[in-house]
Amino acid sequence: MKKAFYNACIYGQSHDAFLVEEGVFTKIGNSKDITSLADECIDLKGSHVYPGFNDSHLHVLNFGFLLDNIDLSNTKSVEELLKALKEGNDDQHPWVIARGFNNDKYPDHRYPLKQELDQLFPDKPVAVTRCCGHVMIANSKALKLAGIDKETVIAGGHIDFEKGVLEEAGLERLKQAMPKNDKETFKRYILKAADKLNSYGVTSVNSHDLLSFDDNYQNVIDAYQELAKEGKLNIRVHAQCQFKDVDQLNEFIDKYPYLSGDDHFRIGPQKILLDGSLGARTAYLSRNYPGTDKRGILSMSVEEFDSMVKAAWLKGTPSAVHSIGDGALDIILDTFEKYPGEHGIIHLQVTRKDQLKRIIENKYKAIVQTIFLDYDSSIVHKYLSDDLVDSSYAFKTLYDGTLLTNGSDCPVELPNVLKGIQMAVTRKSLSFDVKAYNPSEALSVAQAIDSYTINPAILEHNQDHKGMIREGYLADFVITDKAIEKEDVDHIKDIKILATYLGGKPVYENA
Ligand SMILES: [Zn+2]
Repeated sequence: MKKAFYNACIYGQSHDAFLVEEGVFTKIGNSKDITSLADECIDLKGSHVYPGFNDSHLHVLNFGFLLDNIDLSNTKSVEELLKALKEGNDDQHPWVIARGFNNDKYPDHRYPLKQELDQLFPDKPVAVTRCCGHVMIANSKALKLAGIDKETVIAGGHIDFEKGVLEEAGLERLKQAMPKNDKETFKRYILKAADKLNSYGVTSVNSHDLLSFDDNYQNVIDAYQELAKEGKLNIRVHAQCQFKDVDQLNEFIDKYPYLSGDDHFRIGPQKILLDGSLGARTAYLSRNYPGTDKRGILSMSVEEFDSMVKAAWLKGTPSAVHSIGDGALDIILDTFEKYPGEHGIIHLQVTRKDQLKRIIENKYKAIVQTIFLDYDSSIVHKYLSDDLVDSSYAFKTLYDGTLLTNGSDCPVELPNVLKGIQMAVTRKSLSFDVKAYNPSEALSVAQAIDSYTINPAILEHNQDHKGMIREGYLADFVITDKAIEKEDVDHIKDIKILATYLGGKPVYENA
């Protein structure tokens, strides 16, 4: 079956048509020639075609889980949050699980209180996670089920029992008390997430979720691979693999070596979480947060971190490490330089000039989220000293110096690529009334598009057959109503995704 798509404006091509065969672009040319070769012809009526977008760091299962539970991302006050919990509660789910609120968007900037949750749900466990994923508020019933009382102390975490607030490792303890997910549940989460991703034009992801719900990665891998086999996996997944310890890492890599798999599901680097988030002030800085005696939280000891990076390195697997504070980044750079390789750094938000230089010298991959600027540009001045504000979120410097790939860290942010492109180009918040943040670090539109297409393909070692509209490449593409590169930069986010194709098959159509 040869399908022609004609009458199109194709990004990066002077021709206006392409032929798709067996899931691959087999010919690019002019409409007359291409349609004469085809069994079926689709008139794109002058709309614009881009390579399928690739989100280089997110959490598919957590996103699917969020879609399966109560979404608080649109709430504007604690009252609205409580109302959403009440309305979203049903008998099917044994817990009330909700996520995505941002108290900085609330008039009083406060978290919901344990007492308020208790009042609504005296007998049903409730867990409400902040948008950053690093802070959770639980009610009395949930705390009780997790065995947490006012004496409980957890290494690498913080618990305020009176208010029901759990941070970092504290929230991991609570998650362990939640009902366990089986393989079929994971498949449901993946399908829900993929559906939503396709609506944003996303066809490929680098996903960190093998241990999102428990210590057993096998159910998650089986869920992905079975969906791929059944022809239902509508995203291509490159796994960023987290491990609980060196033993598990060794066992995993022997079974699933780096880059093994196929174009539906492939094994990527080891993922390590080293610090928290800036919004929750748990990102680990090289100095105290202004006006406090706190530097943030390290998720593991330096020795432990070293042993994880080294163990993967001995088996030829690079590491990609979550780093938001410059204190965490110091540790990462020291360790990476001991075990040289094609390592990546995820987020790379708070950086100093000396660190940028080391990243560029070693060509470590910068796996960033320009969409974070929407919120973070409103808090950087509050949480960072001026010199750090100046050298942080240095995306242009990183783009010019090494491989920079973009993404959403979904469900931290929605996987809204067009908004991410706009943020990369304008660095101007859409949600807060603040000045554009360091405009000299803005990407060009073409660079921003690359950061969501060919650059992540390079990150995955797939650039010879993915990330561009070119003969011999996978026919993953997005159709939009306007040209991203010609649109007024303040309105890129308003461009409509008309359709998304994966391997030549439509996976999303805007009705
Ligand atoms: Zn993440």
